[in-house]
Amino acid sequence: MKTWAYTRSLLKKQFAGMGVTRCEVCSGTFALGFAHRYKRRFIQTDAELRTVALLCVKCHETIEFKGHDLMKAAIDKIISNRITEPMW
Ligand SMILES: [Zn+2]
Repeated sequence: MKTWAYTRSLLKKQFAGMGVTRCEVCSGTFALGFAHRYKRRFIQTDAELRTVALLCVKCHETIEFKGHDLMKAAIDKIISNRITEPMW
């Protein structure tokens, strides 16, 4: 499995290319980071490591606080609702 540092550097470029540069929940820009569907210590594949939403620290904490099942559901919902095509 690739390291998180390496994967994160690829994700940053990918998200910038998709135009996703703000928190995907609140559109905030403070302390953005990638949120996984599972706690990182439970992630065992590169595909899962790349399955993330971009969240501000507040939304990240809110989602993590919901517990394991709800965290996965919340990240899945953000990803499935994501608009990655240009709007114009
Ligand atoms: Zn947020």
